[in-house]
Amino acid sequence: MTRTKPQAVLHPASAEDVARLIQAAYGSAQGLTVSARGHGHSINGQAQATNGVVIKMSGSRERTAADQTSAVAAAARPRVSEREMYVDVWGGELWIEVLKATLEHGLAPKSWTDYLYLTVGGTLSNAGISGQTFNHGPQIANVQELDVVTGKGELLTCSEEKNSELFHAVLGGLGQFGIITRARIALEPAPQRVRWIRVLYSNFSSFTKDQEFLISLHGLPASQRVDYVEGFVIVDEGLINNWRSSFFSPRNPVKLSSINADEGVLYCLEITKNYDESTAETIDQEVEGLLRKLDFIPTSVFTTDLPYVDFLDRVHKAELKLRSKGLWDVPHPWFNLFVPKSRISDFDEGVFKSILGNKTSGPILIYPMNKGKWDQRSSAMTPDEDVFYLVALLRSALDTGDETQSLEYLMHQNRQILRFCANAGIKAKQYLPHYTTQQEWVDHFGDKWAQFHMRKMEFDPRHILAIGQRIFTPSFAHNTKNTKPINTHNSIIASS
Ligand SMILES: Cc1cc2nc3c(=O)[nH]c(=O)nc-3n(C[C@H](O)[C@H](O)[C@H](O)COP(=O)(O)OP(=O)(O)OC[C@H]3O[C@@H](n4cnc5c(N)ncnc54)[C@H](O)[C@@H]3O)c2cc1C
Repeated sequence: MTRTKPQAVLHPASAEDVARLIQAAYGSAQGLTVSARGHGHSINGQAQATNGVVIKMSGSRERTAADQTSAVAAAARPRVSEREMYVDVWGGELWIEVLKATLEHGLAPKSWTDYLYLTVGGTLSNAGISGQTFNHGPQIANVQELDVVTGKGELLTCSEEKNSELFHAVLGGLGQFGIITRARIALEPAPQRVRWIRVLYSNFSSFTKDQEFLISLHGLPASQRVDYVEGFVIVDEGLINNWRSSFFSPRNPVKLSSINADEGVLYCLEITKNYDESTAETIDQEVEGLLRKLDFIPTSVFTTDLPYVDFLDRVHKAELKLRSKGLWDVPHPWFNLFVPKSRISDFDEGVFKSILGNKTSGPILIYPMNKGKWDQRSSAMTPDEDVFYLVALLRSALDTGDETQSLEYLMHQNRQILRFCANAGIKAKQYLPHYTTQQEWVDHFGDKWAQFHMRKMEFDPRHILAIGQRIFTPSFAHNTKNTKPINTHNSIIASS
């Protein structure tokens, strides 16, 4: 979606490398901007640094680990404390690697994203959400400690107790306050297997009532609740058997025409229950007990059972399929909103049943979360209600000649949805936000803007970090072309 060139790319071998670069950038008379790039999955250029330096956080571990003699290599591997149930990881580590390393100890992080080829620093700069969020909070609520290089080049350890202002600023901070070089993530005993269930609804209010009921069970013993709650909207038949829902096909493809969809729209609730040997005997009973309390279309229960790691890594399988068909590296005008519970049915009427028409060009996720599981001291923004929904329009633009699949068409629809929310007074917040003016950012942060701005002045006073977010303008932007290359010890700066 976005293309721009930095002056150079830094492949850091350590946190000290990152610090040395930022010290030089901060002290430079002519000015130099620096952006961390996780795995580059932001779609609007948030990890880019036009004319500045991009720090390639992912991949550096593999390179340093290849040098087995290096002390840096040892320090770069995830380090698990079984006793205290945490793992220390490099900020550029992919979540899939975190999972593999912790599973060796029979442990795993508690809160996930749907896709694991994202970096720890990248998701912690946003929030990191998935079907476990209702129960464990977002990934940013499951961090015990961070090492951060601030915009002044200081390498600081921070936590609830130590440098707490920096800790809370960085979590959900869109890369504005520092670069996360290490994160300490809370762990739990890893479940062995997952019972994965999908049921369909033709009635939106029954669907959301059941989702809200299921997330209200957070905090109950595991046997009395589910472990994961998501859902998606089905407005066209192509979608139900698509890349996110290979679940139904090819053994049991679902025909929309066979189900009496309300105004042509169906809703799919997706839940899981984790279990292991000790609970294997009761899992059927527990699932049945919960399903009895729900109001879905009785003939529409789809169940599968798989190892925990296969469930967590499910989207990667779809990625490989899409890659093989050349359908992965296409523009993704993805659009994510947090919608307050009180207005979700207005959103359904105005967006799912109206603006979208009968073709969506990709999955539309919808699931609720409990605001109480989000730490309000972090920089992440959520609506002002105890329960809010993620609505994620995860669409792919294709050059097929069909206007409704074009990038322009889908981006226009995204704008229409934002306008609809504004006109209807729906106080939605963008997740993975993208704005182009500071006023829009001020509106996004609302009451939190003053604090966000103050934190920026304290931790990145020259506004050199993560300029791709377009929140603050570096004061020396007009001079960056003349910046001289910087050499850091022990690392590679590849001139672009
Ligand atoms: C297929 C797919 C599925 C996804 N599913 C989910 C999901 O289920 N839930 C969810 O929450 N998100 C999901 N995402 C979105 C994802 O969380 C964002 O793209 C996020 O930006 C992480 O990607 P990244 O690691 O590539 O970071 P990047 O996109 O490279 O970086 C994101 C931002 O963080 C900054 N940053 C990166 N690393 C650091 C660091 N170490 N320290 C400080 N700042 C840093 C960057 O400068 C940039 O501003 C998905 C994305 C894809 C492509």
